[in-house]
Amino acid sequence: MSYSAEIIRKIKTAAPPQTEFHQAVEEVLDSLGPLLHDIPKYQEFNILERVVEPDRQIMFRVTWVDDEGRVRVNKGYRIEFNATLGPYKGGLRFHPTVSTGTILFLGFEQIFKNALTGLPLGGAKGGSNFDPKGKSDGEIMRFCQAFMTELYRHIGPNTDVPAGDIGVGGREIGYLFGQYKRLTGRHEGVLTGKGISWGGSLVRKEATGYGAVYFAKQMLAERGETLEGKVCTVSGSGNVAIYTTEKLQQLGARVVAASDSRGTLHDPEGIHVELLKRIKEEQHLPLTAYLEERPGARHLPLEDYPAHRHPVWSIPCDAAFPCATQNELNAEDAAELLNNGCRCVCEGANMPSTTKAIHRFQEAHIAFGPAKAANAGGVATSQLEMSQNASMEQWDFDTVDFKLHGIMRQIHETCRETARAYGDVHNLVMGANIAGFRRVADAMLDQGIH
Ligand code: NDP
Repeated sequence: MSYSAEIIRKIKTAAPPQTEFHQAVEEVLDSLGPLLHDIPKYQEFNILERVVEPDRQIMFRVTWVDDEGRVRVNKGYRIEFNATLGPYKGGLRFHPTVSTGTILFLGFEQIFKNALTGLPLGGAKGGSNFDPKGKSDGEIMRFCQAFMTELYRHIGPNTDVPAGDIGVGGREIGYLFGQYKRLTGRHEGVLTGKGISWGGSLVRKEATGYGAVYFAKQMLAERGETLEGKVCTVSGSGNVAIYTTEKLQQLGARVVAASDSRGTLHDPEGIHVELLKRIKEEQHLPLTAYLEERPGARHLPLEDYPAHRHPVWSIPCDAAFPCATQNELNAEDAAELLNNGCRCVCEGANMPSTTKAIHRFQEAHIAFGPAKAANAGGVATSQLEMSQNASMEQWDFDTVDFKLHGIMRQIHETCRETARAYGDVHNLVMGANIAGFRRVADAMLDQGIH
């Protein structure tokens, strides 16, 4: 049994099924064979077994009161995975499906994503099984306050700096920050994604989506192509999806789809991004509200499609951007995208393509941008927010956007050159995994056994 296979066997038998975590670990470790062969020290110092084990897992009860006066209880999580490169950094997810396995998978991915940015950031993730859907503003606020009442003792601007993720946007970060400040008396950069007038950075809101598009632009440039005139589909209609759509349109692409957990919106004329922002960011309405102002669009409900298929992938496109959630694009979806002429897939969400879907894309030799590289623009800009907080500066939009663009170009180049060095220049999955792992592993060796 190989060293990688042995470690995968150990984590699978050591804990209850944590399928998504195992999938994420396998995807990284399966890429590392040639590197482990080249650098025996990694096995000698047992880096793999150390890197798949979080530094610590914090779990807590979150007790809050709903609008009817009932006492409600949720689970809260913060998994501080690896701080070798810098303070723990990674988002908080509020979604009913959140479990230890979800946070482990996201935290593990975050280590290597953060390493790829080249910035001094460790990896962590957190969240709760709280469902924000259908909750009033007051309920969201009370939940966030209760969540922070437990979390605040574990975080700090130089130790662990959470941010947003699914279900946690600007509103939630505001409530979380307010409670942190009440509890500690300190106004400091303990969270990123803050409001612009109280310590936030311009471009942070846009960064993950814009960054994914900058990454796709680099992949296409390698193939002598641009995004101009390309028909694109984007899944999701949250933070990452909206700003992926906005940047694609700025670069001359036509985005014809958006989606959510109930179905897909197909607007052949091109998604009206300002309308999407109003519905989702301001009014928190279902996607179907879009149809009232755009009668030329149609809605494809999820229930009309076979289980495990999502209608968004049946719409023909040149490039697809999965920006909703994990494992939202399976092998059948991949086959349909390829049959319909798709030649570029760039992941805005975390682990949105299943392993089999990725294999299909790789066999077809299309441009494929893996999440840990393509969506790293969010965390990179969070680090720019931390820099501004530390120096008490506020940079203008163009300055931050320019830095983000440069970081995404650098990440793409790192992945491509690493993939080239290991014999498969277009395999950015391998390039990202090897480059991210190597930076963390070398720093672990430097810092001694712990
Ligand atoms: P949001 O909560 O803003 O939006 C999530 C979107 O995905 C919504 O449209 C939601 O639909 C849809 N969605 C969520 N769960 C499911 C599901 N199970 N099935 C179908 N659709 C679903 O989250 P973000 O845009 O912030 O995050 C999207 C993805 O990007 C996640 O994978 C996240 O981890 C990743 N990411 C986010 C970063 C950030 O900066 N925000 C940074 C890096 C990665 P509905 O409203 O119906 O639930």
